[in-house]
Amino acid sequence: MRAWDATTDVLVVGFGAAGASAAIGAAAAGAEVTVVERAGAPGGASAMAGGEIYLGGGTPVQKACGFEDTAEAMRAFLAAATGPGIDEERLDLYCEGSVEHFTWLADMGVPFKASFCAEPCWEPPGDDGLTYSGGENTWPFNEIAPPAPRAHVPQMSGKKPGRRSGGWKLMEHLSAQCRESGVASMLDGRVVALVSDADGAVAGAVIRRFGEELAVRATKGVVLASGGFGANPDMVALHAPQLCGQMPLGTDGDDGSSIRLGQGAGGFTRRMDAAQTAIPTVPALLYPSIAVNRFGQRFINEDTYAGRVGQAAVFHQGAKVALVMDEAIFESVPEADRWGARPTWAAGSVAELEAEMSLPTGSLQATVSLYNEHAARGCDPVFHKRPEWCRPLRPPFGAIDLSALPYAVFTLGGLVTTVDGEVVGSDGPIPGLFAAGRATSGIPAWGYVSGTSLGDATFFGRRAGRAAARRERRPAART
Ligand SMILES: Cc1cc2nc3c(=O)[nH]c(=O)nc-3n(C[C@H](O)[C@H](O)[C@H](O)COP(=O)(O)OP(=O)(O)OC[C@H]3O[C@@H](n4cnc5c(N)ncnc54)[C@H](O)[C@@H]3O)c2cc1C
Repeated sequence: MRAWDATTDVLVVGFGAAGASAAIGAAAAGAEVTVVERAGAPGGASAMAGGEIYLGGGTPVQKACGFEDTAEAMRAFLAAATGPGIDEERLDLYCEGSVEHFTWLADMGVPFKASFCAEPCWEPPGDDGLTYSGGENTWPFNEIAPPAPRAHVPQMSGKKPGRRSGGWKLMEHLSAQCRESGVASMLDGRVVALVSDADGAVAGAVIRRFGEELAVRATKGVVLASGGFGANPDMVALHAPQLCGQMPLGTDGDDGSSIRLGQGAGGFTRRMDAAQTAIPTVPALLYPSIAVNRFGQRFINEDTYAGRVGQAAVFHQGAKVALVMDEAIFESVPEADRWGARPTWAAGSVAELEAEMSLPTGSLQATVSLYNEHAARGCDPVFHKRPEWCRPLRPPFGAIDLSALPYAVFTLGGLVTTVDGEVVGSDGPIPGLFAAGRATSGIPAWGYVSGTSLGDATFFGRRAGRAAARRERRPAART
């Protein structure tokens, strides 16, 4: 580097939830902050999200909806649901700081309606502010910790899921707070390289913008927050081959650039094969049906979080899964809410259905017979589905071949960071380099619970920004 084109204290890469939270955290700690965003506007995958933010321990919304919760119960649930491989210190901080984090969001105007959505759904279709999102009240978690709903959803009407929903509302407020905090933004700029001092400390970044390259010096630090790598087929094939051929959920910006920039500076990565893998159906059809593998066997309680069923299907069943139901179940869900689902096979008997599905003879018959025998008494001794979803399947039967449909996926693995967002390499934290959000491996270490991505991105984004701002300002040095 011969010269810098601009200087800031903290340079944030990516203007999604993690980047915005880092910028707000850094500005609140007194730093001059610039956010670089490769798109023409803030938002990223965060603005497409359902907006569920995983918070608990007794938030005002939980209390107003009549739910009791504690940080201990939240921690016990998350430790069981997001493992294996949880980061104990990170989880402690997240659960203990959850009510304060709710207040931080609410104070900047993010609206949360104190109403509970009880219906099975991927995200509340209306403007309810609270729902279950991780199977807290289902087996085995209902035996591990007192259940409480913890997905807090920004209030919004006229949602268009996947395009403009609660995440959009969240980003509206985070972006506004950035403006109010004096954070500078550089849109249409893509960070293509980090610049290190001779001593290895990260000193700035190179940004490609409208065909030109700009070198921006960051006197306190760079925060990498440009999302995961689901839109980078080479990285997916290299690190998470079980996701190949599935549908990446997010934006083109999820090309893993932060992860690669961090690796280039010596950062370690963790759990790069972990991913949210949404099963391609709606919970209202899933809960009362039975999901079977290619041996005609059930493999999970279908009434748990549908993302958990998806992870079990992709990682343990090779995504070769079908949903077996009867006509009554199919008809119980209005056509408009079925996401276009139609039975792939239909038959008057289980034996016929089994043959249609090319399952081993007797396999599905044994599964349905065992399921029906106990469902008639409202129980499920194998996977402990809740009584309200146990009902014997009756002819005519049908099955939806889920292996023919894409699972919507986003990656959970990324850079190893301390709880203050410092990127960790072989000699410990790399001076001047921070990261947050899906560029890192965070609260959803392996198992995914809806709301832990935005929850983790905003909570630890704030911490990363604050920690960067608190670093001593480094004098310009030869780089
Ligand atoms: C349809 C949908 C629904 C979802 N629902 C939920 C939910 O309800 N709850 C939940 O917790 N999670 C949900 N998720 C997941 C969640 O939205 C993401 O995991 C999370 O938003 C990631 O946040 P982030 O800040 O790390 O990345 P992003 O929000 O993607 O932000 C990264 C930004 O960096 C920019 N960028 C990329 N590369 C560069 C570069 N080199 N230089 C500069 N800028 C760059 C990108 O353009 C992007 O704007 C959902 C995702 C989708 C798509």
